[in-house]
Amino acid sequence: MDATIKRRQTRQVAIGHVMVGSEHPVVVQSMTNTDTADAAATVQQVQELALAGSEVVRITVNSPEAAARVAEIRQRLDDLGCDVPLVGDFHFNGDRLLKDYPDCARALAKYRINPGNVGKGAKGDDKFAFMIRTAIEYDKPVRIGVNWGSLDQALLARMLDANNHAATPKALDVVMREALIVSALESADKAMELGLPADHILLSCKVSNVQDLITVYRDLGSRCDFPLHLGLTEAGMGSKGIVASSAALAILLQEGIGDTIRISLTPQPGEARTREVVVAQELLQTMGLRSFTPLVTACPGCGRTTSTFFQELADSIQTYLREQMPIWRLQYPGVEDMKVAVMGCVVNGPGESKLADIGISLPGTGEVPVAPVYVDGHKDVTLKGDNIATEFKTIVDNYVQTRYGEGGAKRREVVARTIPIKSV
Ligand code: SF4
Repeated sequence: MDATIKRRQTRQVAIGHVMVGSEHPVVVQSMTNTDTADAAATVQQVQELALAGSEVVRITVNSPEAAARVAEIRQRLDDLGCDVPLVGDFHFNGDRLLKDYPDCARALAKYRINPGNVGKGAKGDDKFAFMIRTAIEYDKPVRIGVNWGSLDQALLARMLDANNHAATPKALDVVMREALIVSALESADKAMELGLPADHILLSCKVSNVQDLITVYRDLGSRCDFPLHLGLTEAGMGSKGIVASSAALAILLQEGIGDTIRISLTPQPGEARTREVVVAQELLQTMGLRSFTPLVTACPGCGRTTSTFFQELADSIQTYLREQMPIWRLQYPGVEDMKVAVMGCVVNGPGESKLADIGISLPGTGEVPVAPVYVDGHKDVTLKGDNIATEFKTIVDNYVQTRYGEGGAKRREVVARTIPIKSV
């Protein structure tokens, strides 16, 4: 955690073995888009998300067929050695599903309840109470997840009516933001009155507009000490979704608001669901809040770059590093902090490479076709010929083994000097 960021003081909540809130690092979450009734597809996607680094995975529990498979999904993941906590996303019929499928209630590590979707009036209160009592019975935490698109209409009507009769009525958007927060806080109060401990409650108030999200969470954060689940809902596709989510979440995280995050990206056709995990990790890592995967510093390229070779090398090195992480994070503790630079020419290449743990400065237009490699700030070898990419990956592999493997730093110095690559 960046020492310059003062986290908002919160309680801590256990989601299975994952701790959220208080001084715990901001947790990365994701959500499947498979039909939960299709256990095989859901197990596969949960495992992919967990391998990509998702620390908690949410699945929809929307039907008897889905609820009936949740315990099996949990068991199959356990059999695969995947212990990522599963969160059940409930709407409309959550009370009935939790009642009819106790194995589902037991297998989940947390329930997400949307107070706008449990039902109206006394019937809705009964359904909400049943879900909370189930959480108490099975000792599960609950996220009270309010959403702009499904805000409790009775609550909103009551607040709009009160606003209309006020001496100085507020603007509609102000009342709506307040209704989101009141819905979350009143639901949390109800849950505690029913007996759910305060350290079993997380809150979220998701909206799809960046400025509204920032305003709502600042306000919500100042009015309670529950851990907050942060996310811009319906962020959208591609770069728009990434930019909007990052813009909103970065400001709040910088202010110490947010204990767990999800990036709600709409995947492009054919795009992996794991993209949302990568974006969440990169947001936290580039802000200096956590480290997940060695990051590659690469220059943007310009008229000095002779070809796309350096772009391809930067991309292939970043992909390679990410692909190694499921194994590396077990074998080489600390490797997630490694910094790698891939630069396009001599202007900034040597300087940036020296600042990284390992850097390569590729030849630009008119330069001698050689690529000096810098290790721990010193020029180590110079690569040339057709196998620069392969040889550079070998150097990275050796560096990881010697610096982060057993024996660590001492062995690094010896091996770095004897890498069997021709020097020029
Ligand atoms: S390092 Fe060289 S190639 Fe890269 S952007 Fe700077 S001047 Fe251009």
